[in-house]
Amino acid sequence: MKKIIKNAIIVTLDKENTIIRNGQLEIQDNIITYVGEMRDSKGQIIDAGGNIIMPGFVNTHCHLAMTLFRGYAENSNFNNWWYDYMRPLEDKIELGDCYYGATLGILELLKNGVTTVADFYLHPEETARAVNDTGIRAHIGIGAITGREVVGEEYLDGEVEKISINPLIKPILYAHSLYSCDESHFQELNKYAAKHHLVKSTHVSETLTEVGTIDQKTGMTPIAYLESLGFYDTPSVLAHCVHADVGDIEILAKYPVTVATNPSSNLILGSGIAPLYSFVKHNINVSIGTDGAASNNNLNMFKEMYLADNLQAGVLNQAQALTTVDSLKMATLRGAVALGYDNLGRLEKGYLADIIMIDISKPNMQPLNDIHSNLVNACESNNVVMTIVDGNIVYDHGEWKCGVDYQDIVDHCNRIINRIDG
Ligand SMILES: [Zn+2]
Repeated sequence: MKKIIKNAIIVTLDKENTIIRNGQLEIQDNIITYVGEMRDSKGQIIDAGGNIIMPGFVNTHCHLAMTLFRGYAENSNFNNWWYDYMRPLEDKIELGDCYYGATLGILELLKNGVTTVADFYLHPEETARAVNDTGIRAHIGIGAITGREVVGEEYLDGEVEKISINPLIKPILYAHSLYSCDESHFQELNKYAAKHHLVKSTHVSETLTEVGTIDQKTGMTPIAYLESLGFYDTPSVLAHCVHADVGDIEILAKYPVTVATNPSSNLILGSGIAPLYSFVKHNINVSIGTDGAASNNNLNMFKEMYLADNLQAGVLNQAQALTTVDSLKMATLRGAVALGYDNLGRLEKGYLADIIMIDISKPNMQPLNDIHSNLVNACESNNVVMTIVDGNIVYDHGEWKCGVDYQDIVDHCNRIINRIDG
């Protein structure tokens, strides 16, 4: 049945950044069929009560099941965090654990207005089950997850089959990083991506240590080394790129790549601040990710948008370096483009119906002098009151609509971490 959202302030994020006050949006199945002024129409009415609706967030870099390790290894730099804490913890993960961690992560995302996530973690088939049980749109990472896998066509075919259990799931090809994988991992993913038209991703240029290690090994920066491996020849999402230098930025500008920035994670682990302003000036697509909750420590795109925008203003002494609309689009439309969509990330006729509703009655959202600014600089994830994915209401005023027992998921997660840490 058609869904009709009435009486809404519609933040379209279309080409003109149109905002429609007292607007109406209609959904047939999973597609937006009308965006405009209020009109008579028959269907299931959703009264927005004057609240804002906008495109759902596209989180382009996440490790959902790392919610299990939220709050671990605080005040650790990346290398200490990764080698001394995360890897030993991950060695104790058993089959079944990641389902609960991933489900907890997805419930947090849906509550916070994220409608699409690109994930990469151990046991991707368990993440697929979590996606299937919760209703988010997901790109699930397969490939060289630990760097110990032998990645070839047969292996990847099998992984694709394991995760393809729901039409909202698509594969994304991952090699963890240049320091944990070898050249053959990247080359095998290049071949598979070209053959099957899949997006690839990796962590790159996250820390100065990584830059030094790759320089010693190859005489190149990590970004230049990936170019030499042909990784940018097909669409790729590059997580972090904190230490991209001028030459790196010139390289990236030549290819169909996206930088997925993760500002909170880079601050918490003492990694640095990515040069987003330079990427944007060079017309490089920039999207936003939360990274995992073990290094963030929550999955909140409002915080990431705020940091993406305002860190540039701060480090460059230039308040107008990025605009609030730039930041909103990095968190929505540009993320959708990164993952290969041309019909996601805007509220526009013909686009996929991934929509969130923001309560404007709370003090932090009033008055509405500049709606885009309120969304980036004032809004909190608790202002999200409804999340719609693919035309379905999956979160509504404090309740997830997927039938998952939240307390059961939390209890399982606590039992798992007690076992692992015990
Ligand atoms: Zn990551």
